[in-house]
Amino acid sequence: MNINFSKRARAMKPSGTHQLLQMSERPEVISFAGGFPAPELFPVEALKAVCEAVLDEQGPASLQYSTTEGYIPLRTAICDRMKMIGIEASYEHVMITSGSQQAIDLTGKLFIDDGDVIICESPTYLAAINAFKLYNPQFVEVAMDEDGMIMEELEKKLQAHPGAKFIYTIPDFQNPTGRTMNLERRQRMVELANQYDVLILEDNPYGAIRFAGEPLPPIKHFDSEGRVIYLSTFSKIFSPGLRLGWICADEAMIEKYVLLKESSDLHTDSFAQRIAVKYMEMNDLDAHIDRIRAIYRERYTTMVSCIEQFLPHSVSHSTPEGGLFIWLELPESIDSAELLQDCLNNHVAFVSGAAFFPNGGGHNTLRLNFSNMSNENITEGIKRLADVLHSKL
Ligand code: PMP
Repeated sequence: MNINFSKRARAMKPSGTHQLLQMSERPEVISFAGGFPAPELFPVEALKAVCEAVLDEQGPASLQYSTTEGYIPLRTAICDRMKMIGIEASYEHVMITSGSQQAIDLTGKLFIDDGDVIICESPTYLAAINAFKLYNPQFVEVAMDEDGMIMEELEKKLQAHPGAKFIYTIPDFQNPTGRTMNLERRQRMVELANQYDVLILEDNPYGAIRFAGEPLPPIKHFDSEGRVIYLSTFSKIFSPGLRLGWICADEAMIEKYVLLKESSDLHTDSFAQRIAVKYMEMNDLDAHIDRIRAIYRERYTTMVSCIEQFLPHSVSHSTPEGGLFIWLELPESIDSAELLQDCLNNHVAFVSGAAFFPNGGGHNTLRLNFSNMSNENITEGIKRLADVLHSKL
């Protein structure tokens, strides 16, 4: 049988990452490849009481179809939380999504026509690259340093590509580098976006997971024209399995997002939305986040000190103040995809960096995750990585 896929489906190719991730899941492998939160911190016991309360108090309504925009008490609670970090919005500006991954996909659908330019950090989040690719954009990458996207470079790209649809950025503890955009650049990005009339897609799943340094306001805080679309999620602060994310944007955009989401999945899980609200009523979410931050701080510190102690000095690493990832740059002579094969033989895994560069490059880079691993395994895993690296240099 000839399966007559659409052009879009025919263009979709497995990245190879999937197969490697499967190999890295073998029990003998210490894997720094995933991006999972620490499961031992999920509030399982508290959620038993929360689920019971939701079912007792709201019964069938919690299992019924509901509105595409989302459960108003959840949208209101999100506005209260966003206010604490400097975003003033009412619930009409918020739509609940099935994780922020859905928000990324819907954004691609909403704005990208064939060949449109979208601007992003170099490197950037792999699953956003893949989601946007479905809509066939031209990716224009902007160089970063330890303080995030470099604004002079961004301006050059904006000049070279008038009509660019949006700038996609992950300003806090970026995936994959762990880097954070500094305050001045956040303000400057909004100024540039105003000047060049381009939207900003601010993807912020990690902002609350800060374990060092001072919090910075989101880019949306500086937005006076409604051109910043802000995405966030409960995945890293509560549970990724419940699939609860949100979009905060100008009402005219939310209206369109609602139409798209309706065709996609009607609405986000009614029960999960009520669970999140009830959890926040019955428990202190910020105290829970503090526990997550304390554990991640410890794991990060262990990983960085092992990197500095065991890896060759020609390897440099990012120094994140939060989030889940550390980024390594290896000497030019090393290809991290080849290195990964040797590392899997030595029972340690990571994600090689090339996948995070939409237009290629980054062969000598890699991403390490530290959130989902005991300190002992972090130490042992970095020693295994060091053994392989020393044998190559
Ligand atoms: N954006 C970034 C930068 C991410 O790293 C992730 C998850 N790893 C997501 C979005 C999607 O998160 P979720 O769909 O679980 O909210």
